[in-house]
Amino acid sequence: MKYNNIDFDTYFKNYPNAEGYFGKYGGAYVEGGLKSAMEEITEAYFTICKSTRFIGELRRIRREFQGRPTPISHLERLSTSLGNVQLYAKREDLNHTGAHKLNHCMGEALLAKYMGKKKLIAETGAGQHGVALATAAAYFGLECDIYMGSVDIKKQAPNVARMKILGANVVEVKEGLATLKEAVDAAFLAYSRDYKDSIYCIGSVVGPHPFPMMVRDFQSVVGIEAREQFVGMTGELPDAVVASVGGGSNAMGMFSGFLNDPVDIYGIEPLGRGATLGDHAASLKYGTEGVMHGFNSIMLKDEAGEPAPVYSVASGLDYPSSGPEHAFLRDAGRVRYDAIGDEETIDAFFKLSRLEGIIPAIESAHAVAYAMQLAKKMGRGSVLICLSGRGDKDMDYIIEKYGIR
Ligand SMILES: *Cc1c(COP(=O)(O)O)cnc(C)c1O
Repeated sequence: MKYNNIDFDTYFKNYPNAEGYFGKYGGAYVEGGLKSAMEEITEAYFTICKSTRFIGELRRIRREFQGRPTPISHLERLSTSLGNVQLYAKREDLNHTGAHKLNHCMGEALLAKYMGKKKLIAETGAGQHGVALATAAAYFGLECDIYMGSVDIKKQAPNVARMKILGANVVEVKEGLATLKEAVDAAFLAYSRDYKDSIYCIGSVVGPHPFPMMVRDFQSVVGIEAREQFVGMTGELPDAVVASVGGGSNAMGMFSGFLNDPVDIYGIEPLGRGATLGDHAASLKYGTEGVMHGFNSIMLKDEAGEPAPVYSVASGLDYPSSGPEHAFLRDAGRVRYDAIGDEETIDAFFKLSRLEGIIPAIESAHAVAYAMQLAKKMGRGSVLICLSGRGDKDMDYIIEKYGIR
């Protein structure tokens, strides 16, 4: 299928190019030791990911450890409450550890093992990526250093405990505001000093090349499974596919399966409290081109051109940029990016729980909320939602802030 001169039949061969660019977005804006480290990972990935031993082992892990394939559920009662459009959910909440993040963490850790690395390094904000990576490290018997700001360590005590139980070393970062940005800086610094024995595991389709490509490839299992399952269940393709976008990994995984199909694709960012800078994290909707964390993409900037403070009710979505491939697909017009606020999201969170018996992660509830609006607009047809994770982690916060609705 051709779309705005981009040939989606050969898309995955051509994007990204050899330097890691999706059009003008992507690349690897790093220097010195980190530059050689990225080159080493790129080379290893291209060799190892084509080996039947690696592919076979990853498939076995997905089946026997992660519980894949995850099912698709027909959201019948929710659909009926809205009209005639039929809503479906790809159940990444049923993946081990409760979200899609394990898909790329197991891939990255398996790559580390094949490269002979001893340690996994990463940062975490809310702790979801840290827990998924600590799980992968435990599975493979690798060391694991997770950098986390002191503020987040206090806020996310259960996830800190999980990481420690899984054997990871949680490194407290006290600099600056002591949240995610400082944790990223500290983790990168530690990695640049220790890249011979360790590997940096990025938590989404962001960061320098090869990570946006690698994480997409590991997540594409979501879209590949979903396409086959959906056609098997209904005999046709969905009319629309919807996923939440923070860095953009669950969305890229889902979209990969449908880019070459006549399917409308929607990436949904958090509009938070509203459209004022600082009240949302809708970078693709309101941002401009810029480089941060080693890659060129669309980002939200403050007056000084630095990454702007962002907000969302979903801590997994409050990142001031998104993966370069999303910026590219936005410009190409292949994927539509829109945003939805806290209020609609919380409403969808309770509706999905009450009508379907599925408590979603607040991140995933953004996609559900948008799909509900879309269903009303469409009038007929079908919508497939990527339900990226389960809501257990959000219970305390929801009850404290919103009570039981
Ligand atoms: C981390 C997270 C997200 C956001 O990350 P992406 O890379 O944009 O997918 C979405 N949903 C859940 C459940 C998460 O844990």
